[in-house]
Amino acid sequence: MRKLALSDDILMQVQKPARYIGNEVNSISKDADSVAIRYAICFPDVYEIGMSNLAIQILYEQFNRREDVWCERVYSPWPDLHEIMKKEGIPLFGLESQEPLSGFDFIGITLQYEMCYTNILQLIDLSGLPLLSADRTDDMPIIMSGGPCTYNPEPIADFFDIIYIGEGETSYDALFDLYIKLKNDKTYSRKKFLHEASKIPGMYVPSLYKPSYNADGTLASFEPLYDDVPVKVERQVVTDLDSTAYPMKPVVPHVQAIQDRVTLEIMRGCIRGCRFCQAGMIYRPKRERDLSVLEGYATEMLKNSGHEEISLSSLSSSDYSHLPELLDYLIEECDEQKVNISLPSLRIDNFSLDVMKKVQDVRKSSITFAPEAGSQRMRDVINKGLTHDDIINGSREAFLGGWNKVKLYFMLGLPTETEEDMRAIPELGDEIAMLYYDTIPKESRQGRCQVTMSTSFFVPKPFTPFQWARMYEKEEYLHRAKIVNDHMKEMLNKKSLRYQWHQADVTVLEGIFARGDRKISQVIMRAYELGSLFDAWGEYFDLAKWEQAFSDCGIDGDFYIMRERPDDELFPWDFIDCKVSKKFLLREWENAKAAKVTKNCKDGCSGCGAAVFKTGVCTTH
Ligand code: SF4
Repeated sequence: MRKLALSDDILMQVQKPARYIGNEVNSISKDADSVAIRYAICFPDVYEIGMSNLAIQILYEQFNRREDVWCERVYSPWPDLHEIMKKEGIPLFGLESQEPLSGFDFIGITLQYEMCYTNILQLIDLSGLPLLSADRTDDMPIIMSGGPCTYNPEPIADFFDIIYIGEGETSYDALFDLYIKLKNDKTYSRKKFLHEASKIPGMYVPSLYKPSYNADGTLASFEPLYDDVPVKVERQVVTDLDSTAYPMKPVVPHVQAIQDRVTLEIMRGCIRGCRFCQAGMIYRPKRERDLSVLEGYATEMLKNSGHEEISLSSLSSSDYSHLPELLDYLIEECDEQKVNISLPSLRIDNFSLDVMKKVQDVRKSSITFAPEAGSQRMRDVINKGLTHDDIINGSREAFLGGWNKVKLYFMLGLPTETEEDMRAIPELGDEIAMLYYDTIPKESRQGRCQVTMSTSFFVPKPFTPFQWARMYEKEEYLHRAKIVNDHMKEMLNKKSLRYQWHQADVTVLEGIFARGDRKISQVIMRAYELGSLFDAWGEYFDLAKWEQAFSDCGIDGDFYIMRERPDDELFPWDFIDCKVSKKFLLREWENAKAAKVTKNCKDGCSGCGAAVFKTGVCTTH
C-alpha cells in the first residue's frame, strides 16, 4: 500500500489535508525502478491555484507519455504545513509517490507571476537542497524553470540550474535524452550536463553567463563564459499545435480548484498587439488548433473528468476563426450533459454578446469588458484597438440582451497618463450607467444598473513596447486611484457606480522583479530568510520584510522602476532572442508616445519579426 509522506497526526493539524495526499482521479503512477528520469513539476502556489494551471497539465501529460520518465506534481505547502515541515525536518515530496524530491532527477518550477518568487525558495529549501545553483553537487536534482516570468530570468537566475525559454512542447525530449545518455555512459557530472544542455535550443544555463555593470548600475555587458555556449538564447515555439500532447485525462482535484473545470486551449498567441501586454508579444504568432481536434478534446475531457464546466482558453477568443462552429458543437454537447460553458477573453461586439446570451444565465451574471483605459487617447497609446463607440454600442447591446451588471477593467499609471485620462474612467462608467436608464424602459428594468470599475496599476514588462517606461512610487499610485474615486463621487449616476483598486505596494515590487537584474536574487533570498512567503496573497504579503531585505542587501529598488530607460540601454533580458525584435518594440514605443495606432496582424503585418517561425497568422499575408 502507498504510504503517505505526512502522518495522520500532521494531516489533522493542517487546513485542507487533501492538498497533500495525491492519488486523484487521472493522476499517473509508475514503477520508480523502471524509469530513467523522475521529474517533479512544481507550481509555486497552493494546490487549488496550481491545479487550475493548464501548462502543468500539458507537461504532465507530455512527460508521462515517455515510458522512461515519471512526472509527478508538487504544489507549495500552505504556511501551516510549511512551519511543521521546517520544525520537524520533513522533506518535500511528490504527490504521486509521496517520496522526497531530493531523490528526483529534475525539479521543474513553472513561473506564472513574479509575486511567487519566495515560494520558489520554499520549494527548494523544503526539498533539503541548497538555494543557490552554485552550491549544488552532482548527486542533487537539476532545478529548472519555465513560464512567462522567465522572459526576464535574471532576478531568479542564481536559484536555477537551467531556465527554459519557450513553449514546453519543444525541447524537453532533447534534454531528457542528453541526461539519460550521460548517465548510461557513466560520464554524467552536473557541470558537463549543464554545459551540453546550454546548446539545446531555448535552454539557458545562468551559471555559464557573466553580467558586468556600469558605474551607474546599468548593465554593461552580458556574455557567455565559453565559446561554445550560445550568445543568444532563442525562444522556442510550437509550429503545429495539433501535433502536441494535450491532457485529455485531466487530473481531477480533491479540493475544489480556483477554476474547477475542463480547459480547452483553442489557440496560442494574439493578433492584437496591445502595447502593455507581454503575453501578446511573447506568444507570437497566433496559431490555431483545428476545429475537429478541439471537438474531440472537449468530448473526451468532459467524459474523463466528470467536470461540469468547460472553459475556452486563449488570449482573445473572438479571434479564433471557427468560434461559431465550435460553440454550436459545444452547446449541443454540453446541453445533453448539463455542462456550463465559460468564455473569457471575448471582445465587445454583437457576435460575442449573442454567444454569451446562449451560454450564460443573463440575470445572474455580469458582463465584463476590459477597455483598459478611460479615454480614447489613452486607448490609442496602448493600442487597445477599441473605440468609444465600440464600448457604448457593446454596452447598449448587453443591456438590451438583459444584463444590468457591467464590470469594467482599467489600468492606472500607464505611460503618458494625465489627470484627464484618469477622470475619463468614472466618466465612462457614468456614461454606461446613463445608457442603461436611457435604453431600458422603467417597467422592463431588473433593478438598478451596476457598473463596477476596477483598476490595476500598470507594470511595464520585458519584451513589450513599454519596457522602456518608468513606474511610480506607491504614494503616486494611490493618489491616482484617489483622483478616480473622488471624481466618481461627482458623477450623476454615482449610486450605480462602484470602484475598486489594486494594492500599490505589491505593484512596486512586481515592477522591480519584472525588469530587475541578477543583483535582485540576493534580495529575494534575504526576504525569504526574513519569513516572506506567499507574497501574492494579501494576508501574507509583508512590505516591511521586503524593505528590510532591500536595505540589508544595500540595493535601491527605485533604480529599477523610477526612470524612463534610454533607447539604447542594454537590458538584462536582451540576451534572449524572442523573435519579436527590439527595433519593432522601439518603433512601437515611439508610436505609443505619439498615440499612434498600429494595425493588428490580421489587417496587415507590421514586421515584428515573428514571421521567422513560418507559422500561424504570419503565413496568411
Ligand atoms: S510577423 Fe507580422 S503577422 Fe506575424 S506576429 Fe509579427 S506583426 Fe503579426
